Amino acid sequence: MGCRCQNICIRYKLLCNPFSGLMQRLNDGEKVIVAEGYIFNLEKRCYVQAGPYVPTVVLEQPDLVKQSHEEFVRAGSDVVQALTYYGHREGLKLIDRSADLETLNRTALRIARECATNTGTLMAGDICNTNTYNPANPNNREKLEAIFKELLAVISTSQEQVEWAIEEGADFIVAETFGILDEALIALDVIKRYGKGNFHAFKRKPDLPFYDFLLKENGVPAVITIAAHDNFKDGVECTVDEVEVTEAMKRIESAGADVVGLNCARGPDTMLPLMEKIKKSGVKAHLAALPVTYRTTEKEPTFMTLTDPKTGKLAFPINLDCALCPRDDIFEFGRRCDELGINYVGLCCGNSPHYTRTLAESFGRKPPGSKFSPEMSLHCIYGTDEKVDKYLTTDAIENVLGRKNQPVD
Ligand SMILES: [Zn+2]
Repeated sequence: MGCRCQNICIRYKLLCNPFSGLMQRLNDGEKVIVAEGYIFNLEKRCYVQAGPYVPTVVLEQPDLVKQSHEEFVRAGSDVVQALTYYGHREGLKLIDRSADLETLNRTALRIARECATNTGTLMAGDICNTNTYNPANPNNREKLEAIFKELLAVISTSQEQVEWAIEEGADFIVAETFGILDEALIALDVIKRYGKGNFHAFKRKPDLPFYDFLLKENGVPAVITIAAHDNFKDGVECTVDEVEVTEAMKRIESAGADVVGLNCARGPDTMLPLMEKIKKSGVKAHLAALPVTYRTTEKEPTFMTLTDPKTGKLAFPINLDCALCPRDDIFEFGRRCDELGINYVGLCCGNSPHYTRTLAESFGRKPPGSKFSPEMSLHCIYGTDEKVDKYLTTDAIENVLGRKNQPVD
């Protein structure tokens, strides 16, 4: 991993992060696997409400959030991403919990920091779309004021989350799921202005002679990902504010993002062709791809547009199970990312530890969770191992399942 401070690592694990941090790993050509999708995952476990999707679970069940982080790391995630998605003031206002803003954010960040430190992974602060910025407002004075207020809302929302993330020791900041390019650029600007240095670590160990290594001149790395919704202009994928997605990536890169790409909205099948376009368009920054784990199609390119083939009704959000990717899709997604040279790779909504493990294994890794990866040679019916009772194995498969022998991996 190229860590240059091994003695320090042992004594001051927390302070080691900048030396073997995100950018060094990416610059060294390493894959960085990132588990996102905590909100959907915890909604399925009945700890987050579909609709507002605000992670009050952080305050109500902090041990569960900690365990979720640990499960994703065990499954192969290199990053512990703090569960602050929709934990901004706009989210909390929706559920009349505005007073919990700072406590929720700081608690989520501390849980993530602790897990990352304990597992030797990277910790990311997380900010996201605010759903308050409307690019369609006409350009008159009254509306302009409204837009400006909205901008301020975006800025103040992002700023407070970034500052807390830095104080709580984030190694980098993820700003994600922006459908609107302008909002993504504002978020990036806020990270650049307020995401300077790991002051938390500095304050803890001010006597260390090398603390200045920790105060990064250019601020913590910024990962900016766009959610490419079902918006097209002349048949080309666009952001909600009508900028071609490849052009949007270039603008985010020029504005100083360290990693740019796509997350959420699209499943592997509709995200990969767009990632290929982005790659070919000449974006030089490290690329990120974190699809949802649903089988989106050319006709229904995002999980918000998917319909249930049985009922014809919109599947989003609670009937999306009918379109879940099989694990082989996730494995194939990993292989394609490898071919395309995409090194910041992960999964968003729909993700679960078994998918993250599959992704890690697609890169030839064996995370601790691989201890329980499938071993079908020991299966009671399909098994081929001599220890398996022959009564039910492949010899008898026709009798038991009523069908002819099938090849087993
Ligand atoms: Zn998502």
